[in-house]
Amino acid sequence: MSKKYIATPSRTKELLNKYGFAFKKSLGQNFLIDVNVLEKIIHQAGITEKTGAIEIGPGMGALTEQLAIHADKVVAFEIDQRLLPILEETLGDYNNVEVIHQDILKADVNEVIKTHFKEDQDIHVVANLPYYITTPILMKLVHDRLPVTSLTVMIQKEVAERMAAVPNTKSYGSLSIAVQYYTEARIVLNVPKQVFMPQPNVDSSVLKLVMRKEAPVQVDNEDFFFELIQASFALRRKTLRNNLNKFLNNKLEKQQIEALLEEAAIDGSRRGETLTMDEFANLANIIYRELPKS
Ligand code: SAM
Repeated sequence: MSKKYIATPSRTKELLNKYGFAFKKSLGQNFLIDVNVLEKIIHQAGITEKTGAIEIGPGMGALTEQLAIHADKVVAFEIDQRLLPILEETLGDYNNVEVIHQDILKADVNEVIKTHFKEDQDIHVVANLPYYITTPILMKLVHDRLPVTSLTVMIQKEVAERMAAVPNTKSYGSLSIAVQYYTEARIVLNVPKQVFMPQPNVDSSVLKLVMRKEAPVQVDNEDFFFELIQASFALRRKTLRNNLNKFLNNKLEKQQIEALLEEAAIDGSRRGETLTMDEFANLANIIYRELPKS
């Protein structure tokens, strides 16, 4: 008889009843109940018997179990204490899984990697993320410059589209550049609501982020680069000139801003959403040079 995986409607219901578990919406608890989807995620993530995997939010262990089967080692961070005894039961047969009871936003993931994985092991983050904190989690993980190869995550479709968006599209904005400065981003799978219990109100996609070894553009001051991008999209329907005048209001004269735009060969009547990351980097470097330094 084949093994009954956690990621099936019947096993999930069985566990819910046995432990009297009630989903917490505030923790983004939508569990996966379809093994086919999980296998596709694991394949897209590039998991092999040699790789290490880090999961955020194992829930009852649906994805964790599949990772344990396909990867060398799995470390999973779960915030909800009520899930720990359930995970002990569901993952009890797998000796390559470590569950850490911690809020991922507070975790020192670099330290955890040093402790739990082999030196130079190829490590991938794989998760069905809690949707209420998708962006903070992903930004933390990419900012921490973890020694991981990629992050493959199930998130809200609309957010995935924003993170992977290219210029001149509705979804392109400061989040696209914030993510693509650190990673190469692409949507690898769209997922129907029916594979979750309970079903979320929004559509979902699996986004794959491959960590870059080097930044794709040369930026003199990263903080200023990101501030300038935020400001350029502050009022999406306004021109770049308008947004920049507002942003640099007490630092540079309008004529100076115009001259700097010209030096960067960017027409101020364009909108932020038409600029490539290259153009933003060039513009940020040119403006930063002229800023009064306190
Ligand atoms: N991986 C499971 C699955 O696919 O069935 C559950 C995914 S569910 C969308 C998100 C999980 O993240 C829940 O188990 C939830 O308790 C957990 N979670 C929510 N916020 C968290 C946080 N800040 N740190 C760690 N885990 C968190």
